[in-house]
Parts: sequence; structure tokens; C-alpha cells
Amino acid sequence: MDFSWTDEQVGFRRRVRNFLQANLPKDWYENYVFGLGSEQQLDFSREFCAKLAEEGLLTSHWPKEYGGADSSLWDLFIESEEMWDFAEPRGPQYMGTNWIGPALLKFGTAEQKAEHLPRIASGKYIWCQGFSEPQAGTDLAALTTRAERAGSKYIINGMKIWTSYAYKADWMFLLARTSSSRKSISVFLVPMNAPGIRVVGFPGLVEPGHLHEVHFTDVEVPVSARVGEEGQAWPIVTYALSHERVGLPRYQWADRVLGLAIEMLKIDGKFTETLQAESARILAKIEVARVLAYAVMNERIADGARAEATLPNVQRIAAADACSDLLSFLMDNLPETLCGRSKFIELFYRAQIVSTIASGTYELQLDLLSHRALQLPRMYT
Ligand SMILES: Cc1cc2nc3c(=O)[nH]c(=O)nc-3n(C[C@H](O)[C@H](O)[C@H](O)COP(=O)(O)OP(=O)(O)OC[C@H]3O[C@@H](n4cnc5c(N)ncnc54)[C@H](O)[C@@H]3O)c2cc1C
Repeated sequence: MDFSWTDEQVGFRRRVRNFLQANLPKDWYENYVFGLGSEQQLDFSREFCAKLAEEGLLTSHWPKEYGGADSSLWDLFIESEEMWDFAEPRGPQYMGTNWIGPALLKFGTAEQKAEHLPRIASGKYIWCQGFSEPQAGTDLAALTTRAERAGSKYIINGMKIWTSYAYKADWMFLLARTSSSRKSISVFLVPMNAPGIRVVGFPGLVEPGHLHEVHFTDVEVPVSARVGEEGQAWPIVTYALSHERVGLPRYQWADRVLGLAIEMLKIDGKFTETLQAESARILAKIEVARVLAYAVMNERIADGARAEATLPNVQRIAAADACSDLLSFLMDNLPETLCGRSKFIELFYRAQIVSTIASGTYELQLDLLSHRALQLPRMYT
């Protein structure tokens, strides 16, 4: 098997890296990288992504007619690896480019594509994901936010929780119940400035400003805001989540953090043989996650994102395992990096400690895997 990159891909990676070095502020690590949900980082994200878009680097893997360059999905991956090496300066816009855009490309109407894809491709719009509710996380089908049809409109009432970046988002990719049957859920594209939407932030480990409740009181959207047929959210959600789950090369961030940690341990004279062996073991796990991510990408390029694919779950589990081991390694051997010595490592710690929960829990990944790959009965319904 040949794992090497082509000359073109190496050139593309160099272009992205040069761009990052030229366009990230000099105080990036001190003042921006610390706050995934901070106002400063989110404002920065709009300017930075607009520049990326002008350079043709934001959505190069999209079709030309929607602001892309028809380039391979590998370019998306190369770009994401480079971004995560800098703790993802695109901020929430990775969601627009990585999975909301692709979901609209596959399931959106011509009108929705024309309205939203050029905006996402411009890098100036922030989206949030309105899936989880207080009683509906893993069990998404239990959600109670309702969208009731009233002629040419839907009227939305209910509440979402854990909504990352909601206070700065322009649009929400919303799931709402459109009839009382358990699985009758539909997807809506909702402008966050619609009357009746109230966003309330709450503190979280990642950063104040990251997490929110979003309340809907008689929010009206036109029928044309619905993606797909009424009650047919599941194929869209499955497709979007399979993109989301592998869209983040966390292993790249972990790789960078492990390298920094080793440098510090060497400076401190603490890089003992035991720690060398431990860090080598973690590095091997990071590389497993990387190779599995490449395998997912390979499969996707060959066959598209199939709902029944199991590799994305395997990759997600491997990446979460590698990150968890690294978090323990940091806590055991460099606890001072988590309280002042390194903002970059502290952010990694804060962001990755939730990686076994956000975008589908670790246990859910195992459940999906056991069901799809081993044909065992499902624990979650
Ligand atoms: C930092 C962060 C950012 C997030 N951002 C967003 C966002 O932008 N938009 C959004 O919609 N959501 C977001 N989420 C929510 C996330 O998707 C949910 O937290 C996740 O789906 C789990 O749901 P829950 O929190 O309700 O936990 P639960 O589903 O209640 O699960 C709690 C625990 O119970 C286990 N469990 C659940 N059901 C079963 C069962 N039937 N059998 C056995 N075990 C079970 C789970 O595996 C888990 O360990 C975010 C979460 C975090 C932490």
C-alpha cells in the first residue's frame, strides 16, 4: 500500500501552511487560540475564512459552480490537518465547509444550494448545529422541539441545548419534530436573527461563549427552509454526522501537543525511559487514528459516504482513545501546562476532554459498531 502524497498534494499542503504562517496574527497562540468560543476568535474566524476563500482554500473540494475547485476530498483533509496543527483557526466555519455544505449539496433544493452554498464558500457566515435537547442527546429521536405546518410556513417552538457558537451564528441547521410519530423529524435552515429566537450562554469547560441554550417561541420559517421531505431527517443527519465525525483530524492536534510536551519534559530533565516508552505508545495510537482517517477518506472517495459504513466509528473511537491517553499523560507528567505554562496545551485539554461526548458519545460509537459490524443487538434505539 502506498501512503505517500502526490507532488500536487505536497504543493497544496505547502500553500495552506504558507497561508497560515502569513495570515495568523503574531499573538495567535497567546490571545486567539485560547478561546474556541470567544468573541475575539469568532470575529477573527470571519475575516480569516474570507481570506482563505479568496485564496481558493476554504472549499476547494466543492464543485466549481458552488465556489469550489472540484479538487479531491484529500485536499479537504490536507487542509484540515494543517488547520488543526494550529488548533483550527477557522473556528466554527469548519462545520459549514465540512458537513453542512456537503449535506446541502446532496439533499438541498436548487434554491437552498443557490442561497447557502456561495455564502458558506465566502467564509463570512457562521452556522450552528441545533440537534441536542435536555432530554435528547444520544437519543436524538426523543427531541420535542416542534415545527408545525401552517400553510406556507412552519412555526417552531421548543429549545436546544449545548449549541456551540450560537451567539455569533448566522444560521442554524435545526432538527425539529414535524409529527407525533417518534422518528418524524425534519431538518430546517433557520436564520438566527428570526423573531422569537433567544440565545442564552452558559459556562462550559472549553471556554465561556462556547455553549448555549437556544429557545424558540413561535419562530416562523417558510416551507422552503425545510431540507428534504417532511419527516425524512435521518438520512440527512446520518450523512452529516458521518462527515462531522471524521471531519476533525484531532490526531494532528494531538501530535503537535505530544511534541510540545516531549520538548518540555526534555527541558525539565524529566523525559525518562518510562516516559519515552509511554509517549511512543501514544504516538503509535495517534498514527493509528491518522491511518484510519485516511482509510475513511479513501472509502468515501471510492463509494461516497454510506450510512452503513463502520470505519468512521472505528476511526472516531481510535482518535478518542489516543486523545484520552494523551490527556492522562499530560495530567500525570505536566500538570502545570494546564494552569498557565502552555495555553496551547491547556486548550487542547479543555477541548478534547469532551471528545468522548460531543458529536455522539464514545458508547454510541461502540454501539453502532457492534450493531453494524458484528450484527449484535442494539443497546441504543
Ligand atoms: C463541548 C460540547 C459541544 C457540543 N456542541 C453541540 C452542538 O453544537 N449542537 C448540538 O446539537 N449538540 C452539541 N453537543 C451535545 C452532544 O452532541 C451531546 O452531549 C451528546 O450527543 C450526548 O448527549 P447528552 O449530553 O444528552 O448525553 P446522554 O445522551 O444523556 O448520555 C449520557 C451518558 O449515557 C450514555 N447513554 C445514553 N443513552 C444510553 C443508553 N440507551 N444505554 C446506555 N448508555 C446510554 C451515553 O453514552 C453517555 O455516556 C455538544 C456537547 C459538548 C460536550
